[in-house]
Amino acid sequence: MEYNFDCTICGKCCYGQVPLTVKDALAHADRFPLAMIWTPVGRENKYFDHTTRLGSKVNLSKRKDIGVRISPAAYIPPSLPCPELAEDNTCRIHTQKPSRCRTMPFSPYRDESHQAELLIPRENWDCDVSNEAPVVYRDNIIVERQDFDREFDDLLNQADTLRRYADWLLASVPSLMKELNKMAKKKGGGQVIVSFFSLLPRLPEVDVAEFAVKQHPIVEDFITKTSGISALKKYHKHYKEYATELERVLNQ
Ligand code: SF4
Repeated sequence: MEYNFDCTICGKCCYGQVPLTVKDALAHADRFPLAMIWTPVGRENKYFDHTTRLGSKVNLSKRKDIGVRISPAAYIPPSLPCPELAEDNTCRIHTQKPSRCRTMPFSPYRDESHQAELLIPRENWDCDVSNEAPVVYRDNIIVERQDFDREFDDLLNQADTLRRYADWLLASVPSLMKELNKMAKKKGGGQVIVSFFSLLPRLPEVDVAEFAVKQHPIVEDFITKTSGISALKKYHKHYKEYATELERVLNQ
């Protein structure tokens, strides 16, 4: 079976959260407000094995373990555009954009054979799926696969670091386990949002002061963008707390 797909320049997929590899998060610290997103994936989920391969497995109790997808992300509310989306709906950093944006609509967070449903445009998205659009997926195989393979390899290469990070953070912050448990039970799933700062001690090669100089103005910008909007309260709170952590580094 063949699938045609072309992304027109509607830019609608450039709103909201964008998962990033660790490499991309650091490379774009001067563009996106970052956070760590923990997403529980239950054993019954068809992506459980794939999730534990790229993420981690966490024992919630003696009898229950869950997979957790742990990903840095551009943490942006669904109602706000990516800061790099231009007014004509093109990407200002097209040649340097993150792996996630290059691989869209495919996702290496699921098996290659389970990508077909990602080629159904979401409500209000203007993706071209007519016969005029190029064939991108044939017999459960991605046709042009360099971007997908690159992103998958990056996720695989960072998996050990993220597993060590998860073990360390769960041992240091007991409330995180409670939050994961709560989200794992939530109908339709949920995410636990953790400061990007929590990852930095596991990345000894990163100059934290230099990172803070790049991130702080972006976070300040999102504090302004979300100020006084009740639907964006939780984002605003996250940015404020994150900005305080960044300021602590900047003031040292
Ligand atoms: S970096 Fe470019 S492609 Fe990626 S979300 Fe932002 S505007 Fe869209």
